[in-house]
Amino acid sequence: MQYVGWLDSVDEVTFPYKLYTSTLKHSIIMLYVVSTPIGNLGDITFRAIEVLKFVDLIACEDTRKTRILTQRYAISTPLTSYYEYNKAAKGDFLLKVLKEGKKVALVSDAGTPGISDPGFSLIKSVLEAGFSVISVPGPTALISALSISGFATNKFFFEGFLPVKSGARQKRLKELKKMGCTVVVYESPHRILKTLEAMEQALGNIKVALAREVTKKFEEVIRQDIATLIAKFKTTKPKGEFVIIF
Ligand code: SAM
Repeated sequence: MQYVGWLDSVDEVTFPYKLYTSTLKHSIIMLYVVSTPIGNLGDITFRAIEVLKFVDLIACEDTRKTRILTQRYAISTPLTSYYEYNKAAKGDFLLKVLKEGKKVALVSDAGTPGISDPGFSLIKSVLEAGFSVISVPGPTALISALSISGFATNKFFFEGFLPVKSGARQKRLKELKKMGCTVVVYESPHRILKTLEAMEQALGNIKVALAREVTKKFEEVIRQDIATLIAKFKTTKPKGEFVIIF
């Protein structure tokens, strides 16, 4: 397949497309780990779109979600699902596809593949099989939320999702308390209230930044003490995806 860069006519200083196209044409690199928006479809790089058009197959978590993105940018590359519950079998299939010399891109439902999603398993097995992996960077919820949290950003710890079981969660929160730096936690709307209650128990009524629906219509960052947040979510059902920073 010959790649024709649509940036050919654009100023090379603004868009160093020679580097860009040579990356796409590289015959050894085969798995492209492509970051996609965390809500706002405009948050995708030129390079991500071009790579998604160029590859033979896109492995994604939920094909319905990724199709919204591919339709928006007229990307006609076939999609195949790769998610938590089919990752073993689908991982073998994707390795077979790579062995045939085809180029595969990995995306997740949102953000950067491999960050608290099943992407890590595929990246690990592709590397173990001796293939190359290349990053096409872009949004990730943790960096977006941290950067606007008002908490120190020079040193931070990314926890991802806390353990679900209450004993393990209390133990982990007490360990995090001793970390001596900003901590970033992911949480879903279904568990946010329970998680805040567990945090209050382990850490006391500390002040946190709660980033919700970042880049989306109802984006907000609430900088409050935990007790106030708990009271709020007891009366108003929490909605959206959350990042907790403390
Ligand atoms: N790979 C993704 C990334 O790079 O951020 C994270 C995937 S993880 C399965 C999903 C979690 O990310 C959500 O439960 C939430 O904690 C966080 N998240 C994703 N999108 C978000 C958004 N727009 N606003 C706030 N948090 C978000």
